[in-house]
Amino acid sequence: MDILKIENLSKIYGKGETAVKALDNVSFSIRKGEFVAIIGPSGSGKSTLLHMLGGVDRPTSGNVFVDNTDIYQLNETQLAIFRRRQIGLIYQFYNLIPVLTVEENITLPLLLDEHKVDKQQFAEVVKILNLQNRLNHLPNQLSGGQQQRVSIGRALISHPAIMLADEPTGNLDSKNSSEIIDLLKMFNKTYNQTLIVITHDERIALQADRVITIEDGRIANDEVIRP
Ligand code: ADP
Ligand code: ADP
Repeated sequence: MDILKIENLSKIYGKGETAVKALDNVSFSIRKGEFVAIIGPSGSGKSTLLHMLGGVDRPTSGNVFVDNTDIYQLNETQLAIFRRRQIGLIYQFYNLIPVLTVEENITLPLLLDEHKVDKQQFAEVVKILNLQNRLNHLPNQLSGGQQQRVSIGRALISHPAIMLADEPTGNLDSKNSSEIIDLLKMFNKTYNQTLIVITHDERIALQADRVITIEDGRIANDEVIRP
């Protein structure tokens, strides 16, 4: 089953002489549970594509269907709800809220959605991420690997069907990188959570089921490694 389908997606930033075409008429589908790596040169449109897939920023034209919902037909409020429930987002520099503790950062999406925190489920996630002893710490009291695990916790807490990661290991050493990728792969395999990762690291791309190469805002290559 296709969980994601994009059709003729284009994104132009700015207007007139300074306009930049970041995505140029891109179309493809992703199956539920697929692990897709997105690679390509800097400035080729990878982050823009990820943001379009995650309902973060509206395309200039084209459609994004998630589970057959045309997400950019939703109004801003509906789109925000869609993002919190369906999409987990992870960034290179973690984007944690500095004044909130680890526990508060992880549970924030549930609170914004007026969902009670399921204590057992929270404990389970914290244990998998090995953050039991850091719940009352602030982000700046943590190592990079720990901060990235917090951001994974925040992304996972509402059980999103789709996990999007933009260079999640770009700021980590190789040991921490492997740990983060292993965690993402574990959720991908165990819960059939669709995983889409932008990476410059070939070792990560080679672990994916499929590798999509973006060049100049277009798909230059789309290769299935593990059918
Ligand atoms: P990548 O993730 O592959 O490095 P991006 O998607 O970040 O590429 O950027 C694609 C192109 O769009 C680049 O030329 C970049 O400068 C431009 N771009 C990205 N975001 C913006 C923005 N908010 N405003 C203007 N131009 C942008
Ligand atoms: P369904 O299997 O019908 O999609 P679920 O509620 O079982 O509904 O799961 C919804 C999504 O949440 C799944 O796609 C899966 O990726 C993810 N998921 C389910 N359980 C967990 C969990 N404990 N931790 C993280 N993600 C989960």
